[in-house]
Amino acid sequence: MDGFYDEGTLVAVLTTQPLDRLLDYRAPEGGCFEGAFVEVPLGPRKVLGVVWGPGRGDFDYAKVRSVIRVLDAVPMRDELRMFLERAGDYTLTPLSAMLRLATRAPGLGDAPSMRKIYRLGDTGPERMTDARRRVLEVLSDMGGLALTQAELAETAGVTPSVIKGLAKQGAVREEEAPRDTAFPRLDPGYGGKALAEDQARAAGVLREGVASGRYGTTLLKGVTGSGKTEVYLEAVAEALQQGRQALVLLPEIALTAEFLTRVEARFGAKPAEWHSGVTVTERRRVWKQVAQGGAQLVVGARSSLFLPFRDLGLIVVDEEHDTSYKQEEGVLYNARDMAVLRASICSGRVVLASATPSLESWANADAGKYTRLDLTSRFGASALPEMRTIDMRGQDLPSNRWVSPALQAAVTARMARGEQAMLFINRRGYAPVTICRACGHQIGCPHCDARMVEHRFLQRLVCHQCGETVPKPAACPSCEAEDKLAAVGPGVERLAEEAAELFPDARLAVLSSDLFGSARALKAEIETIAGGGADIIIGTQLVAKGHNFPLLTLVGVIDADLGLQGSDLRAAERTFQLMRQVAGRAGRAEKPGVALLQTYQPEHPVIRAILSGDEEGFWKAEAEERRAAGMPPYGRLAAVILSSTEVQEVFDLGNAMARQDAPLRRLGAQVYGPAPAPIARVRGRHRVRLLVKAPKGVALQPALVEWAAQFRLKGELRMAIDIDPQSF
Ligand code: ADP
Ligand code: ZN
Repeated sequence: MDGFYDEGTLVAVLTTQPLDRLLDYRAPEGGCFEGAFVEVPLGPRKVLGVVWGPGRGDFDYAKVRSVIRVLDAVPMRDELRMFLERAGDYTLTPLSAMLRLATRAPGLGDAPSMRKIYRLGDTGPERMTDARRRVLEVLSDMGGLALTQAELAETAGVTPSVIKGLAKQGAVREEEAPRDTAFPRLDPGYGGKALAEDQARAAGVLREGVASGRYGTTLLKGVTGSGKTEVYLEAVAEALQQGRQALVLLPEIALTAEFLTRVEARFGAKPAEWHSGVTVTERRRVWKQVAQGGAQLVVGARSSLFLPFRDLGLIVVDEEHDTSYKQEEGVLYNARDMAVLRASICSGRVVLASATPSLESWANADAGKYTRLDLTSRFGASALPEMRTIDMRGQDLPSNRWVSPALQAAVTARMARGEQAMLFINRRGYAPVTICRACGHQIGCPHCDARMVEHRFLQRLVCHQCGETVPKPAACPSCEAEDKLAAVGPGVERLAEEAAELFPDARLAVLSSDLFGSARALKAEIETIAGGGADIIIGTQLVAKGHNFPLLTLVGVIDADLGLQGSDLRAAERTFQLMRQVAGRAGRAEKPGVALLQTYQPEHPVIRAILSGDEEGFWKAEAEERRAAGMPPYGRLAAVILSSTEVQEVFDLGNAMARQDAPLRRLGAQVYGPAPAPIARVRGRHRVRLLVKAPKGVALQPALVEWAAQFRLKGELRMAIDIDPQSF
């Protein structure tokens, strides 16, 4: 077989340690395969690594140490290694850091951990009770298959002690089995829905693509509620049928539970899950089963792109426009783009699904790089919500009130009909600003250039940049006046307070990420809402995405102008997406929905585009503007963030970099800045930003490396390069 190294041959090993190169080792006793996970000595330590290729041998052989052991894990496939290399080159990330992303499996290579499983025993129990009978019935229904203690206890509705008791008497058999078992098989022929005509056409195209076994990306653009999920599940079915694996990326963990239920209804069993809310033991199981092929479908967060799939045939990126796909710390990558890269390496398909695609994907489809499928009407009888503005000029609302009389009346009307209403504001906490009415001082974060946001639920002021929290002071920290601190502006918690006064009889559900201790609590609340257990839903960003609330017929946006402030070139795109997305929550069942947007600038072109629903027109205008400015997706952009505790140091380096820009100028690229970064101080570090704008199609990364290499980072100075930054 290819890529096998006999004992004693030199191999180059990539470790997860922050070293800039591969290290030579001797293959261990019994030899090893390329891609093998190994433990190697590094100084006094043992570290994890992967055999990356043949050793270079530019070192005295006698001094080369041996691989300690080969771990019991499926060797990393060429495809994944190539993906890590290419993704590292693209994002300018050292390969060792890329490997860390791909080895986030706890206890990799440890012996499998065991757990107890139960089957029906040979004898009856000494004394029969109701609980015992239920256990025995469940096991006898299993036809000889075993259940874990948790499964058995839950299905039979008994406590574990009942099972233990039966085991002691021999009425059930207790055995040890490895924990890392395969996932139940998914059946592509199970539970398929009859598709509407346009759905069937789209599903047919996607299935054909998957069946072709060749790379390709499709933008599946469908209005909210058009049945995109049902359509791309058909592509998943095709992958399963071909014996290949599939991955579905979701932008938000809170959406997973509902999605898993849909997968179960479609394929008869639940898939594997991979995100920060998954337990350590389960993560380890998923990682192994993905490598062995025992997990056919993974539903997860962006980090699932780095799992060791045996044969990945399809990646779906749901809500592909969502900004949370961009990882903003550590390795700066965009999961949407990395999905395309990974699929192109493993001959897989990508489906980018969205009601409001990113301008990047829209343009790629326009240029013919992606195919595009459109679903233009909602599934079944439900119609798209009607959208209207409420002009807030001259509304004369009392201070600290944000719900206009028109919106209030609309909500009241819904409640009278037993329907649900949603009030949306894209701001967490109680109030964005805390100001002293005596001296005008605004309370800011001690470490960042950001205001402290009052969170009444937590009874603290919180910095949304660094997470610093302090109790709300009684006196002004600046002038020491007592009882003069006032909350200014609305946040979701304050809106909830207003709603409680305006609608005293309503059952309110407040959804904001910091009000829930766990994903489970949030899931429970979402189910309660979907089941009609609330009259008014008050929420942030969290409620805008993907949820299905059948009784919801009214969405009221408190401040539609919020995202239009500031100078970010993407502001229009973001606002357009968010408003259309949140409006799309309304009227998903039979009853028609309405979205009301409170705005001070009803004539603003973006607000008008949102209302008219002329999406193609909006994208074209946006695209023209970006093209004229040479901005993405019609030009390339990279941001260099310099930071230090010393403000002078960062500007000095920034200025030097702006002057010595020959490697970039050669490409026709321009350097802008240095300017204070969008948040100029975070965690006590001053930040300045240089923006590099380059024509499309040039080799930007090598030039950036050459440029940056001219400068030494002394002392506290740090540099981070963000390819394709989100804000510009
Ligand atoms: P989208 O992902 O485009 O927002 P969904 O796939 O969530 O839309 O579909 C919206 C609703 O319509 C869901 O409740 C879904 O179950 C239902 N639905 C979509 N297509 C079908 C179908 N072919 N048959 C039955 N119900 C469907
Ligand atoms: Zn802070």
